[in-house]
Amino acid sequence: MTDGYGRVIDYLRISVTDRCSLRCCYCMPSDGVDWLKHEDLLTYEEILTLCSAFCHLGFRRFRLTGGEPLVRRGLSHLVAGIHALPGVETISLTTNGVDLAQQLPDLRKAGLTAVNLSLDTLDRAQYASITRRDLLPQALAGLQAALHTPGLTVKLNCVPMGENDDQLVPLAALAKDQPLSVRFIELMPIGLGGSLPRRTEEEVRARLEGAFGPLLPCPPPAGAGPGHYCAPAGFKGKIGFISAVSHQFCQSCNRVRLTATGFLKTCLQYDTGVDLRALLRSGANQTQLEAAIADALAHKPLQHHFGTASRPNDESHNMHQIGG
Ligand code: SAM
Ligand code: SF4
Repeated sequence: MTDGYGRVIDYLRISVTDRCSLRCCYCMPSDGVDWLKHEDLLTYEEILTLCSAFCHLGFRRFRLTGGEPLVRRGLSHLVAGIHALPGVETISLTTNGVDLAQQLPDLRKAGLTAVNLSLDTLDRAQYASITRRDLLPQALAGLQAALHTPGLTVKLNCVPMGENDDQLVPLAALAKDQPLSVRFIELMPIGLGGSLPRRTEEEVRARLEGAFGPLLPCPPPAGAGPGHYCAPAGFKGKIGFISAVSHQFCQSCNRVRLTATGFLKTCLQYDTGVDLRALLRSGANQTQLEAAIADALAHKPLQHHFGTASRPNDESHNMHQIGG
């Protein structure tokens, strides 16, 4: 369906939890997190009821995220439920990879089509510093499991944040001999992300070109959203840049987010949207749910305003609470 500015919105990112196995410095505080109560989370049944309404409105692509989606039990049941809905084209997962090796076979059988694995460094000590957990071997096992799963689209996401400057080239090099897209996601000034040094696309690009030579433009991989892709000569995979701050792409935005508590968030930077959990739990039927979703989409903001002064409706939560 289209929003108030005529953009086709057919992609829903669903956060299933605010909890996580890591504590990445730009996303979560090290301790003292006020976790959501179990009864505040949408149940899988409630998520499926909403997905059915979204499908009926023309949504075709669904992504599960969090927090860390793999810490919520039985995720493959949710994947199977979404897979069974009419019209669904892709079901993807954004994960830190720590629990992926163990869960991937069931998720794939249930209908998972793609995995985006977040990895900011290949250096174990640096990983433990950035994520505050010494779990790099587990994350790498997850990456290997994904790369060895036939038919699964795999992308790697890295947030350049100063501390990992020396790791950008080694991470990009993973795309040299395997059909992997390594994407550099510009740090967004959301929650804790506002207090760390941001590296721009130009800075990252200069570093990579220094190591590999010119980055030549290439078509996006399957299922790619915003951002652009390129590769040095001879690479099997691709390098992507998702630069929400320095290269705003709001005019081609195709997505909305459902938080773990059932709030339909129509733009990452604003707290505007609709409380679908309240509607569901007050007994709304599918027609009423669809009307509420359509109304929220009609009021989806035109664009974010990262980099300018804050405004009254700005999002004040961290990414693990919103669903990155
Ligand atoms: N735990 C999963 C993971 O790390 O992939 C899914 C949730 S996490 C919030 C989703 C993505 O958001 C990760 O790739 C993470 O690096 C990114 N992220 C978190 N905070 C961010 C920020 N302030 N700016 C840009 N990306 C951020
Ligand atoms: Fe957890 Fe993902 Fe946030 Fe890291 S970025 S703390 S893995 S939710």
